[in-house]
Amino acid sequence: MPSLIAAIDQGTTSTRCLIFDRDAHIRAVSQREHKQILPQPGWVEHDPKEILESVHKVFADALHQLNADPAEICAVGITNQRETTVVWDSHSGLPYTNAIVWQDTRTEKLCEVISRRVGGQDRFRAKTGLPISVYFSGLKLRWLFDEVDGLYQAAERGDLLFGTIDSWLIWNLTGGVNGGHHYTDVTNASRTMLMNLKKLDWDAEILSELDIPSQALPKIMPSIANFGEADFNGVKVPIQAVFGDQQAALFGQGCFSAGEAKNTYGTGCFLLLNTGETAIQSQNRLITTVAYQAEGQPAVYALEGSIAFAGSLVQWMRDNLKMISASSEIESLARTVQDNGDVYIVPAFAGLFAPYWRSDARGLIAGLTRFSNSGHIARAVLEATAYQTMDVVAAMERDAGVPLTSLKVDGGMTVNELLMQFQADVLGVPIIRPVIRETTALGAAFGAGLGSGIYPNLDALKGSWQAEKSWQPNLEPELRRKYQEKWHKAVKKSFDWVDLNV
Ligand code: ADP
Repeated sequence: MPSLIAAIDQGTTSTRCLIFDRDAHIRAVSQREHKQILPQPGWVEHDPKEILESVHKVFADALHQLNADPAEICAVGITNQRETTVVWDSHSGLPYTNAIVWQDTRTEKLCEVISRRVGGQDRFRAKTGLPISVYFSGLKLRWLFDEVDGLYQAAERGDLLFGTIDSWLIWNLTGGVNGGHHYTDVTNASRTMLMNLKKLDWDAEILSELDIPSQALPKIMPSIANFGEADFNGVKVPIQAVFGDQQAALFGQGCFSAGEAKNTYGTGCFLLLNTGETAIQSQNRLITTVAYQAEGQPAVYALEGSIAFAGSLVQWMRDNLKMISASSEIESLARTVQDNGDVYIVPAFAGLFAPYWRSDARGLIAGLTRFSNSGHIARAVLEATAYQTMDVVAAMERDAGVPLTSLKVDGGMTVNELLMQFQADVLGVPIIRPVIRETTALGAAFGAGLGSGIYPNLDALKGSWQAEKSWQPNLEPELRRKYQEKWHKAVKKSFDWVDLNV
């Protein structure tokens, strides 16, 4: 039986293809960047055709590296940047416009208008798990209907197809104009603000309120299911799993049980906690989302909290303060001092997100004395990521009603051992880094392997996930409390900086 699995990881800046064997070893990797199109401030677009082409190229390149019979590949899993919105013509197969990327803020006004109605920013939260925000794809679609002539009518006629990047890829790979499947998966659909979290289907009331013709929407599939046969220029492989990127990382970290969590430390941080078959309504302004669903089984849900500035604070120290010339230098600089010397940095560059939600906050460096030096600043920069994670974990624990017992980590910042140790210290739980840090691609491959029968069950996947290193908490509780208090004092001082009424 063929036993290789391909994972397509279609990210915000690049597209990758990784080929795994059944022991979850990486056998080939190929990557291509794509253009970031920035037509005006706040707008971010991608060319959907360029993305599709890059998927074909990375797949062909990975296959070439492997030098194996294509028939060895038994399944493909797709994971993608979430919320990025594409609309295309079902007859020509051509996109009507560039894709509107998740980071794009053009729907700000629309969000404001809709939030003025009864129920405010949380008017769809009970059904969708999401606050009204520029991130989510349903309002990007509404914006397209409002702003681009003829699109609404095309949708009403059934000519216009909407999808996030997963749908665009699935439709094209399974035949395009010749009968491509217009599908999405539950994890991607749960980020549209149009899906009912309990019914796992489009919510008729929300569609009617936003005036979105349902014929434009893809069919919602479980994340682990047969999405159809993909044709990579003649190489045919069934698509057996589709996940949004953060959900794929949760799956790739083997967080299959309620209470298990992962944090991805990149430019920002994304923390997801598996809450089992219960969609917990957050009282602390976290997002409720679908973690995954296997065909014929109930959906598994997650709470999600994101942190805007994590690795980007390290980049700020490099590019704006010029205290280091590469991100990797921050660790040795931080190690020139014993501790933070009472210096705290709150990176509220654009206000504070979860769990504070203060748009009037701005960044600060607190506790400076004549004694403070660049080593203390470096420590404070790294510690800011650990403290922000601690605050999101506390909000999750309050929502979930159970304490976290360990945290699995991935992403570019996890090479920083000082940060990892400090994270364990302030959280008071072990931090675990896996052998395969490509957890997003691994999650897609795990899902596809499960769907194709390479792995019989989740337990078999657990056996393929391996810890590489862990950090145990090693800080006296008294000192930990003192640090936490100081951090929270600094956070409070960042409030009320911008007068939003002016
Ligand atoms: P993304 O996927 O969001 O682009 P990555 O997971 O590739 O991000 O991580 C890149 C981020 O990690 C950058 O913001 C960079 O500054 C930070 N980073 C890289 N190496 C280190 C390091 N040794 N210590 C701290 N931060 C680092």
